[in-house]
Amino acid sequence: MDGRIWRERGLRLTPQPELILRLLEECSGHVAPEEIYQRVHEQLPMVNRSTVYRTLDVLEGLGLVRHSHDGTGAARYHLGEYPHHLHLFCHHCGKLVEVDDLQVVEPVIAALRERYDFAADLTHFPISGLCRDCQESTSAQPHVSA
Ligand SMILES: [Zn+2]
Ligand SMILES: [Zn+2]
Ligand SMILES: [Zn+2]
Repeated sequence: MDGRIWRERGLRLTPQPELILRLLEECSGHVAPEEIYQRVHEQLPMVNRSTVYRTLDVLEGLGLVRHSHDGTGAARYHLGEYPHHLHLFCHHCGKLVEVDDLQVVEPVIAALRERYDFAADLTHFPISGLCRDCQESTSAQPHVSA
């Protein structure tokens, strides 16, 4: 990474931002900030948690990383270049599934824009529901017809 970017923002150039980007690349997204901190800490024990979190903010400001949320509202980080996608969160087993085909929600986005003049970003928060496995386990049926 170009060290000038960091100097312009008054941050010392450290191997840390590059390490964070490499970790995110290895994990292909959905990494919790605490997990990023733990992994950075393994390799750079001197780096503290707030420095890692602040670096994530700066990287996000630069467009190099981006976050979405899991079903509990916790932040999950992706590389900035990682393609936008929807998240399906199973509220029964906690599974998070990626949907690359954004066309599936285009009618919803178009309707919200048309009727509510609202530009929805459905990639930021997950769509909550039940995964196939949990639908099959009878105890988890959301709507059992009598
Ligand atoms: Zn994601
Ligand atoms: Zn957010
Ligand atoms: Zn499930």
